[in-house]
Amino acid sequence: MNKAPNIELHQGDLPSGLTFSGSVAIDSEAMGLNPHRDRLCVVQLSGGDGNAHLVQFAPGEYDAPNLKALFADTSLTKIFHYARFDVAIIEAYLGVTCEPVYCTKIASRLARTYTDKHGLKHLCKEILDVDLSKAQQSSDWGAKELSADQLAYAASDVLYLHQLKARLDEMLEREGRTELAAQCFDFISTRCRLDLEGWPDFDIFSH
Ligand code: MN
Repeated sequence: MNKAPNIELHQGDLPSGLTFSGSVAIDSEAMGLNPHRDRLCVVQLSGGDGNAHLVQFAPGEYDAPNLKALFADTSLTKIFHYARFDVAIIEAYLGVTCEPVYCTKIASRLARTYTDKHGLKHLCKEILDVDLSKAQQSSDWGAKELSADQLAYAASDVLYLHQLKARLDEMLEREGRTELAAQCFDFISTRCRLDLEGWPDFDIFSH
């Protein structure tokens, strides 16, 4: 991606008439990592075309019909990195389950067994030779006015997921793990319900 990304910031919901086809990359930023405690602040989306749409939420205002319709659209594959967090917090705040889902972190864990580095920064560097800054990761996402650095960081978390998916799909196919990955992706919504309903750190499959 050579040209600077076009980043559009929207308040409360996506504008009407904005459509994606096939798949959409999604990420979210919150006040912290506990969906029961930490409110959802921003949802980012990209169609994989180098552009990003950011939706910022004011406290308690999660009536976002266009965004909810997009999440509920089963013709759209939602691509996340670590979907387990985003799908759970989207379910908790917007009351909609994202399906079908693709997770680049799970794909990486199943395909790239030669490393234990599956963070987005590492994936972008190794697979795409893109340097991602994580400097704004732990910033105040609840701020009324987000900084230019925050907007650029938030956008960068969705801009490369389509390219990563394409390369990880090739690796999964090569290693014979495409179906296993698909079955893991299908289980994510259930895993998120377990997280939200009281089994976040417990393996219900263990003895
Ligand atoms: Mn992010």
